[in-house]
Amino acid sequence: MTKDANYAQNTSYAGNGAYPDSYYAASRNSIRTPLVLEGAVEADVCVVGAGYSGLSTAIHLAEKGYKVVVVEGAGVGWGASGRNGGQIVNGLNASLSTIQKRYGDGAADFVGGLVQEGGKIIRRLIRDYQIECDLKDGNIYAAYTPAHMRDLEAKQALWRKYGMDDHQMLDKTGIRALVNTDAYVGGMLDTTGGHMHPLNLVLGEARALESLGGMIYEQSPVTKVEHELPRPVVHTAKGHVTAGTVVLCGNAYLGDVVRKLVSRVMPVSTQMVTTAPLGEAAAKALIPSDMCVEDVRYILDYFRLSADNRLVFGGGTVYGGTDPADVVAKLRPNLEKVFPQLKGVAIDYAWSGNFALSFSRVPQMGRIGTNTYFAHGYSGHGVTGSHLFGRILSEAIHGDTSRFDQFEKLPYIPFPGGRMFRAQYSTIGSWWYSLKDSLGI
Ligand SMILES: Cc1cc2nc3c(=O)[nH]c(=O)nc-3n(C[C@H](O)[C@H](O)[C@H](O)COP(=O)(O)OP(=O)(O)OC[C@H]3O[C@@H](n4cnc5c(N)ncnc54)[C@H](O)[C@@H]3O)c2cc1C
Repeated sequence: MTKDANYAQNTSYAGNGAYPDSYYAASRNSIRTPLVLEGAVEADVCVVGAGYSGLSTAIHLAEKGYKVVVVEGAGVGWGASGRNGGQIVNGLNASLSTIQKRYGDGAADFVGGLVQEGGKIIRRLIRDYQIECDLKDGNIYAAYTPAHMRDLEAKQALWRKYGMDDHQMLDKTGIRALVNTDAYVGGMLDTTGGHMHPLNLVLGEARALESLGGMIYEQSPVTKVEHELPRPVVHTAKGHVTAGTVVLCGNAYLGDVVRKLVSRVMPVSTQMVTTAPLGEAAAKALIPSDMCVEDVRYILDYFRLSADNRLVFGGGTVYGGTDPADVVAKLRPNLEKVFPQLKGVAIDYAWSGNFALSFSRVPQMGRIGTNTYFAHGYSGHGVTGSHLFGRILSEAIHGDTSRFDQFEKLPYIPFPGGRMFRAQYSTIGSWWYSLKDSLGI
């Protein structure tokens, strides 16, 4: 699996710690030399996990003058942040109407005020730290059925109610002009969304943190967190970090290192493929708008063009977080259904990755023990949410808990039985959501 000797040392949840054999790993614009945590280290804040959640938290704190140490079990962006669809989609996965129904008007008003903030943070980091990650503007929600169109119209109306007027409804002709397929009956365009090379974004964020004096230890899986101590301690095989505050951002990959968090989220895998380069003309003919696209089914397809004119296509889910045996066999029929003109196209890369699902699909943040915070559960739409949660965690650690408190108090539903029942969830969950999709409800 590894082509990278820099990341081929440990044996943990991340295998030998090498990046998956993804298009992103192959086209990343920097190669890091990992520094392994050894001996005793002191910090103001120790962050576990060098994905978007961890690095957004760390950068926002380092910008305020904190001494921040990040401990990553594999390499920067090894998790979902370095292998995702690259789609910058506003929101927190669960819709504002779901949040309103489940948690009331107050919660919906609060969330309505921040659903575009994550995208703004990403753009701010790219600008301020000159991160090269092929940023493009605009995302399209694609509808397969009139029921999907009604959902999108309701979403547009609700977001307008919260002062956001960036959505444009698309009829069949309108969406076809932006995405060259007959698959959809219409859709909705969000001009404030976008897409980018996700691994290059997270690698750029790592460099940004280091430019602020932050330290990142890689190839250093955390084995234990003593979160009950007044100054919590994070342990790895060869060292430990004692900090005023610890922030746990291991998301779907944290496993059972911190038992209190195990039942809060369930790992779910989703898959991606990348075609061979199509050439500029053929790529533009496929997605003339060069925006990213996702359909609005529960088990959805999501795709976009890469900077070197490949189609980057994702979809499918496996509840419990196992990898399917043959990713190409799984995704090719979906890809060819959307773009029949790509029948038999060469696939250069195929990979799988885990996101953390929360029962309500609302991401969670909170605190355990004395000074240990956590954030996770973006439920498959976490590119923007993770950046936002990092900022909110940094505010709380800096003394302003007003926004943190709003999220911390949201009740969550645990996945009963923890890891033991994940196979059953897998079967029931996949069946239920596929049924809803096939019935168009
Ligand atoms: C294939 C795929 C496609 C996706 N596509 C999109 C998309 O297009 N748009 C979107 O909005 N969202 C998408 N998502 C979701 C999004 O990528 C995630 O929600 C987001 O990246 C979560 O960031 P994170 O930092 O919380 O977690 P991660 O990026 O998973 O980072 C967690 C990090 O913690 C480390 N870690 C875990 N345990 C330990 C330990 N014990 N010790 C040390 N380190 C540890 C891991 O190695 C990892 O690097 C996708 C997810 C996947 C898997």
